[in-house]
Amino acid sequence: MTQLIRTRVAPSPTGYPHVGTAFQALLNWVYAHKHQGQFVLRIEDTDQKRAVEGAEQVIYQALSWLEIEPDESPKHLGDYGPYRQSERLKIYQQYAQQLIDQDQAYYCFCSPTRLAKMRKQQQQADQPPKYDRHCCGLSKTEVARRLKNGEKAVIRMKIPNDQQIIVNDLLRGKVEFDSNIVDDQVILKSDGFPTYHLAVVVDDHLMKITHMLRGEEWLSSAPKHVLLYQYFGWSVPVMIHSPTLRNPDKSKLSKRKGNTSLWWYRKQGYLKEALLNFLALLVWKPHEDQEVFTKEEMVKNFAWSQLNFKAPVFDVAKLQWLNGLYLRKKSLSALVKEVRAWAEWVVAQDDQAAAKQVLVWLNKQPSLFKKALGLAQQRLKLLKEIPELLGFYFAPELDYDQADLLQKHSVKEMIQALTIIKQRLAKLDPWTAESWEQTIRDYADELGWKHRDLFMALRSAVTAERFTPPLFAVMQVLGRTKSLQRLEQASQFLQAVVS
Ligand code: GLU
Repeated sequence: MTQLIRTRVAPSPTGYPHVGTAFQALLNWVYAHKHQGQFVLRIEDTDQKRAVEGAEQVIYQALSWLEIEPDESPKHLGDYGPYRQSERLKIYQQYAQQLIDQDQAYYCFCSPTRLAKMRKQQQQADQPPKYDRHCCGLSKTEVARRLKNGEKAVIRMKIPNDQQIIVNDLLRGKVEFDSNIVDDQVILKSDGFPTYHLAVVVDDHLMKITHMLRGEEWLSSAPKHVLLYQYFGWSVPVMIHSPTLRNPDKSKLSKRKGNTSLWWYRKQGYLKEALLNFLALLVWKPHEDQEVFTKEEMVKNFAWSQLNFKAPVFDVAKLQWLNGLYLRKKSLSALVKEVRAWAEWVVAQDDQAAAKQVLVWLNKQPSLFKKALGLAQQRLKLLKEIPELLGFYFAPELDYDQADLLQKHSVKEMIQALTIIKQRLAKLDPWTAESWEQTIRDYADELGWKHRDLFMALRSAVTAERFTPPLFAVMQVLGRTKSLQRLEQASQFLQAVVS
């Protein structure tokens, strides 16, 4: 029988959804799907001081948004729950006790003051920080007596001396650790909560995890985990430690440097397809020269062995390029839907005025919105640009810039030009791009003006912007009446300047 592949992501609910969590979740999700396996979300909330209210919900929302849903989680349930570590305390306590019984762990009664003093001495002597095993030799009777007296104690695992501990990382190969520099790690705290080290081993085993990709910050703890697997007589799942994501300047991607919140990217209007593609591309591509691919292509072609862990660079410029690509690929109707979903989400998140405005346009003038979006689609890089790119279509009054309107001509000349153009365009039949353009070119020749000047002045009169889609296309979307009204408004604006 082939083995059922089970992978997992195990975030701690300590704040907003981190792009690093999304990255790890994606790779674990893809591998499970490739092998018709299962992907588990475990909530690692044993560090209660760091837990943030609502953070767990946000993790579900993030995975849901990216469409990398877990098969099992505190919310999705499953056969190996509970999936929230704070609900599994008895299980960890029982396994810690087993290690005590096997003489592979011991109670430690050292006070924080003693530990701090010990650390200071070690620092002064230039020694690595390591528990000095003060409580390791306590007799069973003494331990029992002190526990009975209600003395606070933690449980530490025993690390053997003079051993090479080998961590097998699927991609890094055998990583050897000298046991003499491994600390007698606390596995159960005095409040009965496990530390990460005990919990991760017990849970990965009981939840039948076969493969786990986690961050490389855990590689140095892996020898402790390997020992715990040995103590319990369990087999170690396949381990992969993925490299830390870095900024283009090679610094670690952190809250202070760059943006690490998935929600920040979502607010900017990055599409989930672009983000998933980008996250995968940090370490993988289906073929040497293929940078753009779907989640389905990932599932089809994925293998751990193809991962390229050479310093993955979180290059936002590349992400933006991908986003533009995915935005352009969408059908116009699909893009309208995407914009609505995005604006609704942004409004729900922080009541943002610009996103609210987008919803008003969408609801009140859906057809104008769709046409205007269609014209903007080619230039769009982020959904958050929409309020600004589309604003002029909906504005009752434009905020004109005199210099843009005049294009170096005098106010009088320009008023005159706008009036004549308006009259000629009003009579134009049919109202086509060719006839429209010809009218303007002919008139520029009559005036002896550069064609470009007249086009720029008209663009400014109709949109009050310098950069827009082709002017005729914009005027078609606005319609003849509104376009002509804008020429009128522009000449009134200029009249107000002279009077
Ligand atoms: N709770 C750990 C973290 O958030 C999970 C590490 C792991 O995947 O084992 O970093």
